[in-house]
Amino acid sequence: AKAAGGDRYEVYDANRHDAQALRSTLAKGLRSALHRDDFTLRYQPIVRLADGVPIGAEVLLRWTHPEHGPVAPEISIDLAEEIGLIGQLGRWVLTRGCQQAARWYRDLGDRAPFVSVNLSARQLHDVGLADDLLRTLDEVGLPASQLQLELTESALLGPAQGPADALEALAAHGVRVAVDDFGTGYSNLAYLRRLPVRELKIAGAFIDGLTPGHSGTPADRQIVASVIALAHGLNLTVTAEGVETREQARLLRSMGCDHAQGWWFARPGEPDVLPRMLVGEGGK
Ligand code: C2E
Ligand code: CA
Ligand code: CA
Repeated sequence: AKAAGGDRYEVYDANRHDAQALRSTLAKGLRSALHRDDFTLRYQPIVRLADGVPIGAEVLLRWTHPEHGPVAPEISIDLAEEIGLIGQLGRWVLTRGCQQAARWYRDLGDRAPFVSVNLSARQLHDVGLADDLLRTLDEVGLPASQLQLELTESALLGPAQGPADALEALAAHGVRVAVDDFGTGYSNLAYLRRLPVRELKIAGAFIDGLTPGHSGTPADRQIVASVIALAHGLNLTVTAEGVETREQARLLRSMGCDHAQGWWFARPGEPDVLPRMLVGEGGK
């Protein structure tokens, strides 16, 4: 999977073990990991394409199993949903992410990057989500505008009123809502009218095809251009994900894409990559 990127996740190598046995071992490990605080978070800068200044950071979960090594976050999240731990794990990510953002905010003020936290569909349907989150923001001293939530199209689709109300309440306080991997889910766009979305994130798979020598097709450039036009027409901002080369960054900038994220700018790293980029060591 593209998302696995440069990190090597041993667990993808499923023929080493019976996949099901492995899953149950990992599920057990997940439970104790939560108790032992074995998870960590990485932060990947999101830059403004016009000048390369980091304006935000996506929060990415990391878990290293004591025997099996690094586990892909999709797998940890999947397992956590399966065994009913997603609520706890999701809250842990949100709290830690907000604590980090509050530190940046205290140190950097107006220049502080926002944090962008991934929410699973299950978390969005949790009735306590909005209250929980607003309390957390309050406790850690983070203005709501310094938090962005990333939701996939499939999480946002569906007629349920609960999630819509939760997002409405959060947005009313200033929390930003972004659509993750826009264009890879369903072609139903009605939710864009109904929900307080602020930003579309274009999946790295489409960015690959922008320039020669990658796996994409000429259609990708048209798709990216259309997403940018759609977003701007709706007064939303656009972030391109998985930007790996200077050519991609240049092209996206010339196409009017607002923000970008990817290895060309910075890999997911320790929280201090953000302040270091801000004092000018970034500069791409
Ligand atoms: P995502 O939300 O689409 O996150 C972007 C993924 O692309 C990350 O993979 C990131 O490390 C990777 N990436 C960043 N720049 C580049 C690049 O230039 N090239 C390539 N090839 N890849 C790049 P990661 O960290 O392995 O996360 C995978 C997925 O796991 C995420 O995809 C997200 O769906 C999920 N995930 C991660 N952390 C969390 C979390 O705390 N909660 C939830 N619900 N899901 C999470
Ligand atoms: Ca994401
Ligand atoms: Ca994404």
